[in-house]
Amino acid sequence: MTLDLTETRALYEKAQQYIPYGVNSNFRYWGPEDTWVISHGKGARVWDIDGNSYIDYRLGFGPVILGHSYQRVNERVVEALEGGTIFAWTTPWEIKVAERIVRMTGIDKVRLGNTGTEVTMHALRVARAYTGRERFIKFEGQYHGQHDYVMFSTASTSAGALGSRRNPINVQTTSGIPEGIRQYVINLPFNDFERLEETVEARWHELAAIFVEPLLGNAASVMPRPGWLEKLRELCDRYGIVLVFDEVKTGFRIANGGAQEYFGVRADLVTYAKAMGNGFPIAAFGGKEEVMATIEPGRVAHGGTYSGNVVGAAAADATLEILENEPVIDTIFKRGQRLMDGIDEILTEVLPDTPHRLIGPPPIFGLILGTDEEPTDFRAYQEGDGDLYERLMMALIERGVMPDSDGREPWFLSYSHGDEEIGKTLTAFADAVKAVRR
Ligand code: PMP
Repeated sequence: MTLDLTETRALYEKAQQYIPYGVNSNFRYWGPEDTWVISHGKGARVWDIDGNSYIDYRLGFGPVILGHSYQRVNERVVEALEGGTIFAWTTPWEIKVAERIVRMTGIDKVRLGNTGTEVTMHALRVARAYTGRERFIKFEGQYHGQHDYVMFSTASTSAGALGSRRNPINVQTTSGIPEGIRQYVINLPFNDFERLEETVEARWHELAAIFVEPLLGNAASVMPRPGWLEKLRELCDRYGIVLVFDEVKTGFRIANGGAQEYFGVRADLVTYAKAMGNGFPIAAFGGKEEVMATIEPGRVAHGGTYSGNVVGAAAADATLEILENEPVIDTIFKRGQRLMDGIDEILTEVLPDTPHRLIGPPPIFGLILGTDEEPTDFRAYQEGDGDLYERLMMALIERGVMPDSDGREPWFLSYSHGDEEIGKTLTAFADAVKAVRR
């Protein structure tokens, strides 16, 4: 590593004295030598404690849709803060945000929360209460947060552990989950129509929900095959199953109306988090009137001290207002497309013997090295060359561009990634590819 990371390393040492592994989320741990301490961010850039700056394509795992420390969002939050943060009553901020979400996404009703984990947990409860059934389907390589029910066959699982396609194994992602929980989840390969139909037809009477990330936002943005989301819709309609789109990553990022708008398929319940608050902790779940009406004080619980708190709600109010009034997503698409095309050209020219593939929409795109076949599921994604990917990304980080070093995590762009940043990224990319080739 040619970067001077003296202060970063020293402060990280200290972090480890008080915080397990020095991080407050395991995903931020890149090993004892490669875990950064960031001092601040502005626009498309972040700075580490040593003062090195990076064009940021991680964006806090996706939330920062406008740019770091975005002034108009900050101002709205400061204005709101002056009036207090929490009241054990509804505030006008919550009503404004709910109204915006309903207008932008076309769902009927919405409840606010704070994190993706929290809202997928509540969506699952609502689906169970609505149907009176207990089990649910999710797809391999999908991540829906940290609660026990969904921590099986996530993007942290290796393909070898997943068993055969005919008979997939539910692979528990973490210790600490009671044995009985496993029975409630059924993991299937994404985009596998046959396995899906067979499973739903045999077990529909047990199925409360099908949870889907409409594109695999935790596995390099593997895309749904034509007709896949429509098939989910059709089966859920036929068998009275609640279709849940987990739009924590796609919501307010690939279209103002998220994946429902982008792919033209409507879910019964949808979960949102990341981009809706530009990095402030705010989340939401909502959907059809009939399904959301399941929530009933004293009968079906949804609650939380901080749900709809003023800070998160004010941040979402400002973020969604900007998304509604400015061509944020269009701009990100154009600049992201330029970046994808540039990366494609460089790899074709400099590494002609290493096949590669760019996938997904430009605001959240994936890059796979070592194969030029578009993967259609998490198993196929793992056929790419993850080691080469990591070496290339570390070379890029040394050159002041910070994507995730793990190819499962897509590249995220914000409204603050201008043509200048894209140009600099491509120059650094060409240089990094040449260094890795040597
Ligand atoms: N669902 C999806 C699709 C996600 O990508 C994530 C987080 N990466 C979550 C849920 C959980 O969100 P949070 O980290 O806010 O709990």
